[in-house]
Amino acid sequence: MNFLEEKILSEGTVKQGNILKIDNFLNHQIDIGIMRQIANELKQRFSGVEVNKILTIEASGIAIATMLGHLYEVTVVFAKKSETVNSTDDKYISQAYSFTHKQMNSVFVSKPYLHPTDRVLIVDDFLADGQAVHALIDLVHQAGGEVAGIGIAVEKGQQKGGKILREEGYRLESIAIIEDMDWQTQTIRFRQQR
Ligand code: 5GP
Repeated sequence: MNFLEEKILSEGTVKQGNILKIDNFLNHQIDIGIMRQIANELKQRFSGVEVNKILTIEASGIAIATMLGHLYEVTVVFAKKSETVNSTDDKYISQAYSFTHKQMNSVFVSKPYLHPTDRVLIVDDFLADGQAVHALIDLVHQAGGEVAGIGIAVEKGQQKGGKILREEGYRLESIAIIEDMDWQTQTIRFRQQR
């Protein structure tokens, strides 16, 4: 078991509706030691891949992205969310259905922050159905940039996002992949990796 799987088992709780709560170290309170380990692990898994920008989505992806940006010494950009975006000028805009908030969000990045020369490593805390990551991919492509890879802390393997992204040919690395979890028994099983 890796460090993140151990941390999830010792501090995570499973909520009804297929939600893993890890507020204790990632989604509310931030454990800097674990964030550092997540960033180091992603950097190692993407070794040899050229990256000149890190892109995430507010809010919880920002902590991981910042640590990773520090390691790569590249700029970190986070896409902003809102239910509606009034002006369409000077922004790249995409849409993502929020799994946790059950609503459609517009997701945007101001045009000066993404370029055709960007080789972007997309990172996020969770991957579920892949809505958030697909919106980020769309923003990179609108800017004419390239997706160098996708780095995720926790992939929920029983949801479709990971399968779709791998089938689409993206290089996807998830540090912990949940095979299944049960809120009644509080059991979590991880997919064997490597
Ligand atoms: P997706 O867009 O892949 O369907 O869902 C990923 C997004 O939803 C993540 O950015 C994350 O914020 C949120 N999310 C999805 N599942 C969970 C979960 O089980 N726990 C938490 N804390 N967030 C989740």
